[in-house]
Amino acid sequence: MSKLALLGGEKAVKNENKELFAWPIVNQAMKDAAVKVIEDGTASGTNITKVFEKGFAEWHGSKYALAHVNGTAALQAAFYALGVGKGDEIICPSITYWASCVSSMSLGASVVFADIDPDTLCIDPIDIEKRITDRTKIIVVVHYMSMPADMDAIMALAKKYNIKVLEDTSHAHGALYKGKMVGTFGDAAGFSLMNGKSFAISEGGILLTDDREVYERALLWGHYGRHNEIENEQLKQVSGLPHGGCKNRLNQIASAIGIEQLKKYPTEIIEIDKAMNYFLDQLEGLPGIRTHRPAPDSNTTKGGWYACRGLYRPEELGGLSARRFCEAVTAEGVTGVVPGCNKALHSHPLFQSVDIYRDGAPTNLTNLPNGVDVRATDEDLPVSAAIHGRAFGLPWFKHFQPEIIDQYVAAFRKVIENYEELLPGDETVIETGAWGLTKRK
Ligand SMILES: *Cc1c(COP(=O)(O)O)cnc(C)c1O
Repeated sequence: MSKLALLGGEKAVKNENKELFAWPIVNQAMKDAAVKVIEDGTASGTNITKVFEKGFAEWHGSKYALAHVNGTAALQAAFYALGVGKGDEIICPSITYWASCVSSMSLGASVVFADIDPDTLCIDPIDIEKRITDRTKIIVVVHYMSMPADMDAIMALAKKYNIKVLEDTSHAHGALYKGKMVGTFGDAAGFSLMNGKSFAISEGGILLTDDREVYERALLWGHYGRHNEIENEQLKQVSGLPHGGCKNRLNQIASAIGIEQLKKYPTEIIEIDKAMNYFLDQLEGLPGIRTHRPAPDSNTTKGGWYACRGLYRPEELGGLSARRFCEAVTAEGVTGVVPGCNKALHSHPLFQSVDIYRDGAPTNLTNLPNGVDVRATDEDLPVSAAIHGRAFGLPWFKHFQPEIIDQYVAAFRKVIENYEELLPGDETVIETGAWGLTKRK
């Protein structure tokens, strides 16, 4: 057996290839398009943005797309556009980025967290149903770490209880659920298009919907320069100023990049999908890990494989912690292998105790009937609370280069085959992940 690199042996990955991981892929057309906007002085216009929106909507087969300054703004516009207001409850998974839910609180809503499914890492439909009340307005679905959520079950619940669905599609651009693009199932979808995401245009976000009224309400909320598009008589009468008090339009440098991104991204994700599946096929069946990907033949895909994860099963490796496992794989020369994922949101003070608007009570409770307390504990959300020890980051291959990918497979195999050499170690499971982007020590 070869000696683990963590213990002084040679690295399994001999040819590190930065180009294999580089993201976003920037071509000359993107650069030219961005420079042209700067030179023309049209960054603040909307003509290029409208072309981008049309292309984005057509790619999804959706009626309306509305570009935003970032994904957070697109999601808040969607909350408003879907009618969220005082006293409403929003059901959201605890394992996601904060922007999936926090902005609903400034509309007067309360965030109710649901647990995730331990295998998909997406919101668990069975747990959603337990959280539904007559105040539930929206289920926020996050296709987490590019994995499409269980949309059949979620849409059935939405229908049964007459609740709207907002898809936060920031992780899964171009992914399919049973042959249909994610972001087209719910009443609206919000996408982040910032640089780290798989469909990257620098900074930006976009709202997608088939509902004209949702589109027009989102215009009313933050696109005062486009209120001439509003047809609804009631909305028209109160138009002219942004009801949300913010300017939401996208910088056209980003829109121009987006138009070019639309031309190449669908091809890029075919290669990413091929590379990632080639890699994971070889890890399938090894003890201690499970792949986090749709079943073959389900016609469900992971799009650009943003922030792809592996599932970790320490009980099959003598209790070796995810942290120690990741250290050992990283030492073999593999980038991106970190324990955990986003830190569970429910325990953050923002949802537990913070009084943002000086109401004299936690903001997440102020608009609920007396005695109703939606604050969750770790016992309420056991999968979310423990996920940091049961998931890890994978290398994100952008190109199909089998001879190099094989070295990464060898790195994982080597650590798994020799895990006993890492025992007994310090097996305390420390909390990993972060609430925002500030890494905790
Ligand atoms: C990145 C992200 C957002 C927010 O998007 P920004 O463009 O950064 O505002 C929302 N939801 C999820 C799940 C994200 O990962």
